Amino acid sequence: MSKPPDLPAFMLPLFLQIRFLDIIDILLVAILLYYLYKLIRGTGALNIFLGIISVYIFWWLVRIFEMELLTEILGQFISVGVLALIVVFQPEIRKFLLFLGARGFLNQRSRKFLSRLWHIEQNPGLAINDVVAACEELAGSNMGALIVLTRENNLETFLETGEILDARISRHLIENIFYKNSPLHDGAVIITNNRIKAARCVLPVSENIKFPAYLGLRHRAAVGISEQSDALAIVVSEQTGRISLVKEGELKRNLKPVELKEILVKEFSLVVDKKKK
Ligand code: ATP
Ligand code: MG
Repeated sequence: MSKPPDLPAFMLPLFLQIRFLDIIDILLVAILLYYLYKLIRGTGALNIFLGIISVYIFWWLVRIFEMELLTEILGQFISVGVLALIVVFQPEIRKFLLFLGARGFLNQRSRKFLSRLWHIEQNPGLAINDVVAACEELAGSNMGALIVLTRENNLETFLETGEILDARISRHLIENIFYKNSPLHDGAVIITNNRIKAARCVLPVSENIKFPAYLGLRHRAAVGISEQSDALAIVVSEQTGRISLVKEGELKRNLKPVELKEILVKEFSLVVDKKKK
């Protein structure tokens, strides 16, 4: 922040305003850094980030000690640094922008208001009872499942990797898709606007290096899609019959059907299925 200059009295309020903006500036940078850290925490990108900072500090030191050859070499490296950063952190930058677009600036209420204003189709809620009942049945008979529930991001690119269905949600349809002999049971089902948009979809797997080794690719894919979008993912484990839910890269394991329902009711406030289980 700059030192107060000798300003005429009438300009002092203006200066005060600038100092206030400075504070906001710093706060915003701190928030951005925090979310950036949250996105790259637990991935290899954090180490790369620390590596880059080390090179920068080293370059700064050799400059102070006037070691010209090293300063020159590292200086060249740093001058293309911004480009290198974009290339190296391309997945993280993408995740960050998706994050901002998905929930950075607008809360759910203002989104609803804007979509009504612009006549954008509203998310009609989710047939939660059907989804939960299907998961309970699949878990009880040790059949694996991976169900993605989209919110703002429509996951168009991942729909294309599977079989487009665009079907009304029903408990029996979900169960049928994941029965072992079904040609659609492999991969993920994607549910958008209360419809089963596609099955057999291939999702990106999480690159989190701290991911528990005892969880396989189905769980990794659920975490992966929740890192790259604002979608939730439900996993039913074929091995253990346990139900998990993933949101923003965080895995909640071993949920009872009633707990799964509670979370879904909270996340998808507009529930369209009125029948009680
Ligand atoms: P489970 O506990 O059910 O065995 P897991 O986490 O151990 O789950 P795996 O056994 O590695 O997972 O994989 C099981 C199934 O998960 C695969 O047969 C496939 O249907 C699905 N799966 C694996 N990777 C992906 C992916 N990238 N996208 C979508 N589905 C996937
Ligand atoms: Mg497995």
